[in-house]
Amino acid sequence: MVESTNGNPKRVMIIVAHPDDADFMAAGTLAKWARQGSEVYYVLCTSGDKGTSDPEVRPQDLAVTREKEQRTAAAVVGAKDVVFLRYPDGILQNTLELRKDLVRQIRRYKPDVLVCQDPTNRYSDNYINHPDHRAAGDTALDAVFPSARDYHMFTELVTEEGLMPHKTLEIYLGAQGANATVWVDIADTIDVKVAALREHKSQVGEDPERLQSLEARIKERSAEVGAAHAMTYAESFRYIHLR
Ligand SMILES: [Zn+2]
Repeated sequence: MVESTNGNPKRVMIIVAHPDDADFMAAGTLAKWARQGSEVYYVLCTSGDKGTSDPEVRPQDLAVTREKEQRTAAAVVGAKDVVFLRYPDGILQNTLELRKDLVRQIRRYKPDVLVCQDPTNRYSDNYINHPDHRAAGDTALDAVFPSARDYHMFTELVTEEGLMPHKTLEIYLGAQGANATVWVDIADTIDVKVAALREHKSQVGEDPERLQSLEARIKERSAEVGAAHAMTYAESFRYIHLR
């Protein structure tokens, strides 16, 4: 299947573990939806405070830098808001505390579409998926179904915060290869994706040569993903449509 079955979602939420995850996974799709009028919200479980090999950089300072980078990148994509839950990077777990925090955001912004990481993605021949990515994906799925929907889950969200249950019916899991079931044509927004990724300067650097190879890599990868569906550039997802 190509594209979403429901046309343009009114409100989209992407939940990820770290700054830059959302932009690597889905910035082309999110920018496309934003251009078509969707409200896009980013929710980040951690602020990526361990994302450096430099012992001189203090995690709390890095978190501030990375939040700023993510806000700028999200603005490039056209997002309406970015929420940082500020769990410690590297040790994220699928806890009830995190689930409640995600339910709070889902009930607050009422997305029609949730985009998140695929918790079943563990490893491939040359890659082990970051445990935070799996934890963020697992908790996002647990939050959207059924906790955000059910009145009696986290009732204090209703009684103390006035956040009524919300049903999100469409879920896009970042997925590639045999796991993907939906391909989104991002030919018109690939440049937005690259521009958003360039804002994550603490991760991708500022050296022009390095940035050029980043752009080449993103385009090459997106072209590979789109090739089977006659798209110049694409992002792919595993699509769930709840009834
Ligand atoms: Zn990550």
